[in-house]
Amino acid sequence: SKGEKPLTQIITVTNQKGGVGKTTVVSALVCGLHERGARVLGVDLDPQGNLGFTLCLDIGDGYTVYDVLKGSCAIEQAIAQTEYGDILLSAAEVEFTAPRREFMLSQQLDAVKDSYDFIIIDTPPSLNILTINAYVASTGIILPMEAEVLSLVGISQIQDIIETVQNSFNPNLKVLGILLNKYNPRLTLSRDILDLAEQVAEQLHSQVFPARIRRSVSVAMAPAYGQSVLSYKPDATSARDLQKIVSAVAGDRFPRRKKR
Ligand code: ADP
Ligand code: MG
Repeated sequence: SKGEKPLTQIITVTNQKGGVGKTTVVSALVCGLHERGARVLGVDLDPQGNLGFTLCLDIGDGYTVYDVLKGSCAIEQAIAQTEYGDILLSAAEVEFTAPRREFMLSQQLDAVKDSYDFIIIDTPPSLNILTINAYVASTGIILPMEAEVLSLVGISQIQDIIETVQNSFNPNLKVLGILLNKYNPRLTLSRDILDLAEQVAEQLHSQVFPARIRRSVSVAMAPAYGQSVLSYKPDATSARDLQKIVSAVAGDRFPRRKKR
């Protein structure tokens, strides 16, 4: 009805393989959505993660997502405000022994989610209880894959976990799409890779995002400057590619603002 607020979209970027671009995509989504005026919270669930580093956070002994999950502090106390959006940092791994341990993150996010249009969750390169907490809390999943080494290996494992979460914990969870990353603009993406990506997407009842992220050095440089590539080099090919993904997530509500 009129005046009713759209629900907060909670999106997990996941793949049990490392190096496929999860953190890159999360920092682009946080930075890009924030730039468009959306209220964004980035959550880093990777103990080895560098989302905070990427977005120039150096808050030393501030509270982390683990303090929140352990109940050592309120979630509001652990959220850091940055010029690129709000961030909840990761830290060393903790034991999860609480009852309903799959719901720990979801329950914590309930306290703050009305303050955000988007919550974007970065995950470790594994399928563990942290990953499951992310899926249980989410409305959508984005699965980045490296275009040139795309394979079906590992897909049945992630598919099993997604289906288990959908069936047992969170029927609202959708796979928004597979995101092809690091492809070489000088090589036409081979028919084989596209076919394989479509096959993976079909197994997940999803799609391959029409936007693909080209390989470019600016992406790898940006974190050293404490920025997402979107702000570091807005005109880089990869930044323009990532903006298309930001647009796909932002929808009509948060169009890209004109440059002054
Ligand atoms: P993950 O979080 O899945 O481990 P990252 O986002 O950390 O992956 O990316 C792994 C490495 O690849 C990083 O050094 C990153 O800068 C680089 N990288 C990611 N996407 C691209 C790209 N499109 N072009 C060039 N380098 C990229
Ligand atoms: Mg990462």
